[in-house]
Amino acid sequence: MAVKYIFVTGGVLSSLGKGITSSSIATLLQHSGFDVSILKIDPYINVDPGTMSPLEHGEVFVTCDGAETDLDIGHYERFLNKDFHKTNNFTTGQVYMSVIENERKGKYLGKTIQIVPHIVDEIKSRIKLAGEGSEFLIVELGGTVGDIEGMPYLEAMRQMKHELGSKQVISIHVTLIPLVRAAGELKTKPTQHSVQELRRIGISPQILVARCERSLDKELKRKLAMSCDVDDDSVIVAEDTESIYKCPLNFLDEGILTPIARHLELKELKPKMDNWDMLVKKIIAPKSSVTIGFVGKYLSLKESYKSLIESLIHAGANTDTKVNIKWIDSESVEENPALLYDVDSILVPGGFGERGIQGKLEAIRYAREKKIPFLGICLGMQLSLIEFARNVLGIKEADSVEFNPQSKEPIIYLIEDFIDTQGKKQLRTHTSPMGGTMRLGEYECHIKKGTKLYEAYGQKSLIKERHRHRYEANPKYRELFANNGMIISGECNGLIESIELENHPWFVAVQFHPEFTSRLQNPNPIILAFVKQTLAHKKQ
Ligand code: GLN
Repeated sequence: MAVKYIFVTGGVLSSLGKGITSSSIATLLQHSGFDVSILKIDPYINVDPGTMSPLEHGEVFVTCDGAETDLDIGHYERFLNKDFHKTNNFTTGQVYMSVIENERKGKYLGKTIQIVPHIVDEIKSRIKLAGEGSEFLIVELGGTVGDIEGMPYLEAMRQMKHELGSKQVISIHVTLIPLVRAAGELKTKPTQHSVQELRRIGISPQILVARCERSLDKELKRKLAMSCDVDDDSVIVAEDTESIYKCPLNFLDEGILTPIARHLELKELKPKMDNWDMLVKKIIAPKSSVTIGFVGKYLSLKESYKSLIESLIHAGANTDTKVNIKWIDSESVEENPALLYDVDSILVPGGFGERGIQGKLEAIRYAREKKIPFLGICLGMQLSLIEFARNVLGIKEADSVEFNPQSKEPIIYLIEDFIDTQGKKQLRTHTSPMGGTMRLGEYECHIKKGTKLYEAYGQKSLIKERHRHRYEANPKYRELFANNGMIISGECNGLIESIELENHPWFVAVQFHPEFTSRLQNPNPIILAFVKQTLAHKKQ
């Protein structure tokens, strides 16, 4: 079957949940038996979000092939339970970079380079590339209709429909129906204007997804359908829900598949959602509950821990447990360690920079000494090594060169040093314009038999997980660690990928980011094991 395209645009304002809408539609099609792919287009000029501040951009998601992408790619993987790649996210920066490189190479044979056709052609070819080999491609366009930077993309969508026809391309517009409290009324006018703007560009959406606080009655739905020129069954109400994972089920109840099937000339779609439904029920009404102390530094920016938060929800759904997160600001732990006293386990996530390090070290020490289940991720593992070196091995100056470049005891040091000493480049790193190199994407990890990691991963001795970091545990100290009760449970080409403590019920830290591979239907094994340990500790 030739690829069918579903374009998802947003109207009125941003943050309406286009990512969740796109993921939900993709999930319903996938569960109807189709091979579905999905693409996020970011109309900003940055080449990727890798160098953007967490203030500007929530989490930077990392794909298996090492691309730093928008966090929506994380939603796509979590909903669709499959890996996406570099090609599933692109930005205006990448589009222009390709076109300008081609121009420099003389590929356009001396023509004047313009937005139409050259930029638009580059956009179309990237969209087609993302859809290759799939039956459906959902294309989510970032931003809001009417934004200047979105124009070339809307033109590309219009052209694709013109070229491929209306059985191959449809457009869904996600919009807001605000409630004006003073009048007690839901207002459709902003949506009408937004759709008018789309039509001015030559796109008439076939389906409206209307975000609203309260349900629309039949009459209002009909009014919207009439004014926006969609069929009566094509106004899909998306009310706020208890869990994002309920959205596919809500869309199904609202009948979104009927107009999709009609426009794209598909047989009746009957997605099998039983297992999904069961997991959602466990998210919404779980049997047990636990509280994890999450010791982080961007607590006002929870979006920057998106994948980790979701991975805990997945582990909760699969153990019928509500995983409450107690957000503990790492800087406050320094002054007030009592913040840690009432939690069932402690999690120290990844992070960059020096701020809040002392508090995280305190939290790690507390978990180690009081034998509380502990999971450290990336920076969390690096700090676990430093804490152990300082407080158990007595190496007072133990540090990371990230915080102390002149450290005499660089327990954590730069990857480049490792590459140099090995004499060959065995790591996939990328040099960012900021001058640093990062270890990015999926790497193998060889697991030592009999360890907690080995048990967590179902007694597998070889796994793959994703990385995003600049520094590494220094192998020079490994003997010292191993002789004093710290087990190196995972390795990759001599690099230390995970550690655990001998005399502790469950203290595990990993250099990789397990949260990037967690999915609702397939929770990440180490996070699942951590939640199970948290539950067991609470029962004690
Ligand atoms: N800042 C550390 C590094 O660059 C850890 C990064 C992380 O936790 N993602 O190695």
